[in-house]
Amino acid sequence: MAVKRVGVLGSGQLGRMMALAGIPLDVEFVFFDEGENTPSHCVGKVINPKTPGALQTFIKMVDVVTYESENTDAGLVEGIGKHVPVFPGPDSLRKSQHRLTEKDTFRSLGIATAEYRRVSTREELEKATQELGFPIVLKTTTMGYDGKGQAVLRSAADIDSAWQSLGHAELIAEAFVTFSRELSVIAARDQHGHTVVYPLAENQHHAGILRVSRVPAPDCSTEKQAQAEQFITTLLDHLNHIGVLTLELFDTASGLVANEMAPRVHNSGHWSIEGAETSQFENHVRAICGFPLGSTQNRHSHAAMINIIGKNGDRNSVLNEPAAHLHMYGKSERSNRKLGHINIVADSAAEMESVISKFNAFVNECG
Ligand code: AMP
Repeated sequence: MAVKRVGVLGSGQLGRMMALAGIPLDVEFVFFDEGENTPSHCVGKVINPKTPGALQTFIKMVDVVTYESENTDAGLVEGIGKHVPVFPGPDSLRKSQHRLTEKDTFRSLGIATAEYRRVSTREELEKATQELGFPIVLKTTTMGYDGKGQAVLRSAADIDSAWQSLGHAELIAEAFVTFSRELSVIAARDQHGHTVVYPLAENQHHAGILRVSRVPAPDCSTEKQAQAEQFITTLLDHLNHIGVLTLELFDTASGLVANEMAPRVHNSGHWSIEGAETSQFENHVRAICGFPLGSTQNRHSHAAMINIIGKNGDRNSVLNEPAAHLHMYGKSERSNRKLGHINIVADSAAEMESVISKFNAFVNECG
């Protein structure tokens, strides 16, 4: 196994956790980001794009490049790709960056989505509301995340304010999906097209931010897991995706409905650090470095992840709990900021819920 140096566009917690997983495999990491004291500074060299010759230096130092965010500049990725392989490739990135292209892709592959319409004028918005009915979810086609850049229209009275707040950008109007819960499926695909898939996670959000993931998703039938696996494998093959891909899903009475994908490791997969035989971070590194993929099986029958948001909270309460594992990202406290997470492993659902309940303060009282 040759020693590889991975270049990461960005230097946040996802890059940090990739490095923490990759260093034991003899992989080194170089980050390309202008942020100072970001989470990745302690796990590799960080090159500031604003310094002279930065891009050339970065490219010369690395064997393969990856990225942390679907908002990464696709032009930069394509430019770097002329000199050194970038995984996942530009097709995965561009399609995840644009909600219309993304949903068109899902539809073309037989992956269920909400009904949707492209909206670029107020007239088109009115027409969409007539065709889709209320409520509808109006979203910017680009740069949206964690519920930002979107509005729910419950009646015709909401059209004006929604158009005023979002109408400056290209929009997608989606029929409101009635779902019982939100799920996500994460998979990794290697350079030979071999794919491994993690068990479905059930994701609990508050104010648009993920709070808790439970794996496997409670009361999840084998049919549901199989449907999720079929969706994500079809997508991975279509995109010729290399690395980790995440697909966010709504669980509905008529089956799984895809919401969006992320061409990267995902917050709802952080449980896998202690919860799976091979974490999402390690499998991403393995895939992009050309190494064999590892097992995605749970090490214990159940796992959960609780985000630490806004305030650090009582760390010792986590360290004192044998079934809990603390992962901090080296960030300072700030409202709504993801500062770290707690992973929980357990041998039954009841045991897992009892440990989760000990950390209610982290779930409910975050800043
Ligand atoms: P998104 O930015 O697409 O991940 O949306 C943020 C959140 O809004 C999702 O996690 C859902 O809770 C909700 N949401 C998004 N799209 C829809 C939809 N078409 N129907 C119902 N809820 C939605």
